Amino acid sequence: MRFLVTGGAGFIGSCVVRRLVAAGEEVATVDALTYAGHPESLGEALDAPNHELWRADVRDADAVRRILAETRPDAVIHLAAESHVDRSIDSPMDFVTTNVQGTVVLLQAATAYWHGLGARREAFRFLHVSTDEVYGSLGSTGVFTETTPYRPNSPYSASKAASDHFARAWHRTFGLPVMISHCSNNYGPCQMPEKLIPVAILAALEGRPIPVYGDGGNVRDWLFVEDHARALELIARAGEPGRVYNVGGDAEAANLDVVRTVCRWMDELVPDGPHRPHAGLVTFVADRPGHDRRYALDSSRMRREFGWQPTLGLHEGIGRTVRWYLENRRWWQGIREGGFEDRRRQGRSAAPATCAGR
Ligand code: NAD
Repeated sequence: MRFLVTGGAGFIGSCVVRRLVAAGEEVATVDALTYAGHPESLGEALDAPNHELWRADVRDADAVRRILAETRPDAVIHLAAESHVDRSIDSPMDFVTTNVQGTVVLLQAATAYWHGLGARREAFRFLHVSTDEVYGSLGSTGVFTETTPYRPNSPYSASKAASDHFARAWHRTFGLPVMISHCSNNYGPCQMPEKLIPVAILAALEGRPIPVYGDGGNVRDWLFVEDHARALELIARAGEPGRVYNVGGDAEAANLDVVRTVCRWMDELVPDGPHRPHAGLVTFVADRPGHDRRYALDSSRMRREFGWQPTLGLHEGIGRTVRWYLENRRWWQGIREGGFEDRRRQGRSAAPATCAGR
C-alpha cells in the first residue's frame, strides 16, 4: 500500500512512519516541520528508498493537491496538528488555522483526488487522528465511548473537535471514506520536551524542579506510542468508512503518580546521579486554567473488531521511555539547540489583554 502521513515528523507520526516503512510500505511524510517536527525522529526510515519527506503546510491547498497527485496514496493518515494544550491557551489561533482549516484543506484535496482514483477508489481510506480530550472531563467514575457527546474544554480540544466534525461531514456529505480515531495520552520516544513525561525526565536529570500542575490529581489514560501506531495502522488498512474508534491504554494514572514513576526509574537508571532521590524535585505549580480532571476511554470496539490491545503496561512503558531519553541525548539536545523554547505555562494565568503597539 501507499500511505500519506501528515505530521509524520512529529511524535506519533514518526512512529507510524517508522512502522510502515519497516513493513515495506511506500510512505510519503508531509510535514511543515514546525517547532514540533523533526526529521531525525524518523530514524532509518528518513532515507529509506520506500519513504519520502515533503516539507509542506497542510493549510496550503496547492501544495496538498500536488503532493496527493504525485504520491498517489491508497490511504491518508492525518496527524498534522498543533498538539500542546498549554500553547493553545497562549496562542489559540495557530490551533484554529492548522487543526481546523488545515484539516478542511486536506479533506477537500483528498475528495478531489479520491474522485479521480478509478478502480482504486473503493479501497481508499482517510484516517483522521483525534483525541479523547474532545469528550471533556469525567468525574471519578465512567468512561468515554464512541457515542459520548463532545464537550471540549481547552482551545486545543475545541480545535480537534471542530476538525472531527468536518471530517465526519466530509464522509456524510461527500462520501469520502473517513474514519476518526480518538486516542488517550501517548508517551514514548521522540515526544517533544514540553509534555509531562519528557519534562519530568529532563528536569530530574538536570536537577531542576519537576513542575506538577495543581494537586497532581488529574487522571489520564496512558498509552505507549507504539501501541497507538499499531492501532492506527489497523484502522487505516481495514477500518470501516464513517466509523469512530476509541484507542485507550487501560492505564489510568494521576499525573503525580506518573511523575513519581519517572523519578523511581531515574533513581534506578541513574544510580550515581547527584539529584537522587529524584522525587524530591517534584514541585506543585498553579493549575492550568480549565484543566480537565479525568479522562478514561473504552476501547472495546478496537478489541472486538481488530483484536487490538495495548501490549505495554505503564510502569514498563515509562521505564522504556526514561531509558530512551537517557540514551538519545543528541535528539533532545539538538531540539534545544535548534531554538526550542519550552513555553510550559507552569502555573501562569492567561496573559492580560494589551494595547496595540505594546
Ligand atoms: P506533535 O506536536 O509531536 O507533532 C505534530 C506534527 O505536525 C509535527 O511534526 C509538526 O511539524 C506537524 N505540523 C504542525 N502544523 C502543521 C501544518 N500546518 N502543516 C503540516 N504539518 C504540521 O503531535 P503528536 O503528539 O505526535 O500528535 C499527533 C496527532 O495525534 C495530533 O493530531 C494530535 O491531536 C493527536 N493525538 C495526540 C495525542 C498525544 O498524546 N500526543 C493523543 C491523541 C491524539
